[in-house]
Amino acid sequence: MSESFGQLFFIMKRIALHTLGCKLNFAETASIGKQFAGRGYHVVDLDEPADVVVINTCSVTERADRECRQLVRRALRHSPDAFVAVVGCYAQLQPAEIAAIPGVDLVLGTKEKLDVLRFLGEGGKRAEPEIAVSCIDQIHDATAASSAGYEGHTRAYLKVQDGCDFLCAFCTIPRARGGSRSLAADTILAGARDAAAHGYREIVLTGVNVGDYGTTETPDLLRLLQRLIDVDGVDRIRISSIEPNLLTDDLIDFWASQPRICNHWHIPLQSGSDAVLRGMRRRYRRDLYAERVAAIRSVAPNAGIGADVIVGFPGETDERFEETYEFLRDLPLSYLHVFPYSERPDTPAASFPGRVEPKIRTERSERLRALSARKRHLFAASFVGATVPVLFETDHGTGISSGLTEEYVRVRVQADSHLTNSIRRVRITDAADDTCTGNLE
Ligand code: SF4
Repeated sequence: MSESFGQLFFIMKRIALHTLGCKLNFAETASIGKQFAGRGYHVVDLDEPADVVVINTCSVTERADRECRQLVRRALRHSPDAFVAVVGCYAQLQPAEIAAIPGVDLVLGTKEKLDVLRFLGEGGKRAEPEIAVSCIDQIHDATAASSAGYEGHTRAYLKVQDGCDFLCAFCTIPRARGGSRSLAADTILAGARDAAAHGYREIVLTGVNVGDYGTTETPDLLRLLQRLIDVDGVDRIRISSIEPNLLTDDLIDFWASQPRICNHWHIPLQSGSDAVLRGMRRRYRRDLYAERVAAIRSVAPNAGIGADVIVGFPGETDERFEETYEFLRDLPLSYLHVFPYSERPDTPAASFPGRVEPKIRTERSERLRALSARKRHLFAASFVGATVPVLFETDHGTGISSGLTEEYVRVRVQADSHLTNSIRRVRITDAADDTCTGNLE
């Protein structure tokens, strides 16, 4: 190390970032990191010494409080004098609880969370933690966020929308993030161009309820996609998730017809019992869901289609769970994300009758996860003999590289050269569990 570089490294301030929860949080944390990098900060891991620590929280997990305490303790072990900011969804919902955690200097809610730099001021630990949390009803704008340019990732997460108006009975997100609002298409297009300029081959459109996208000038997700596919340099566009009732025929047809839009559809289901869906205040019933999956398969037979499922929601009797199990078993899905229901304070469902014992929630989760493993394997095996484009993400250091197909299937190949962040065609020769193996063409 030269002396000047050594001195530079010595005086360079460091920021440690940690994200809990979803891809949207990840994009927002990355945006905070980029602001700090623009001020000369070096981004480090939470387990490295840092001058500033930012923890972006999630309100979905029931362990939010414990996780947050543990993370603050972990950060302070490595950096006892670091300025600690806790921001995001959980900070919005429980600011006083977070401010009471020893070592926390700043608590920022949904509106303020991207302004850590401004609140930091001259830095240094505070005698008393500062709390800045606006009332959620007063938030009408969506702030832009993107992980493009962030170190160590091959896919850029691009925020297109925030908040939700759907008010499902179990969900804290509308209270943590507010009502649905969308970013201007020009802002999103600029973000996509920026991702391409940073060398990203794939962008993932993220939001709380992406299918609800709409502004005065770009009224829905279909119109946004029609503009995004023309951005030069973006090879793949992936849509993180879409509610089944927002998946229109026009959107399905366009999505399936565009080679740049990944043939991967993540569609939350939550339950295969209409009685449970009604209790959850979901805006569709199981027939609509099955019909949407069939509509996708009719135009995109090889589509990767995944579902979120919550088990053990109040009122989910054994019969209703069996209904869900059989419904999912018979649907041509590629994978399931299974979540045992957890009571969240101040949600309507927390006081619903028909509580399901935690042990039963666990058993039901295990059954559905086993079903998901079988579906994943069958889906991966369906590609044996085919040649598919793979975006490589990881060199495993032993001549093995892996990446993802557009249908979200992991593929491993033996390769001498460095493949990360390149899209290469691979002939699939085998599938074990949920992973394919193959040869570069
Ligand atoms: S659609 Fe329902 S579960 Fe999803 S964010 Fe909105 S309220 Fe929550």
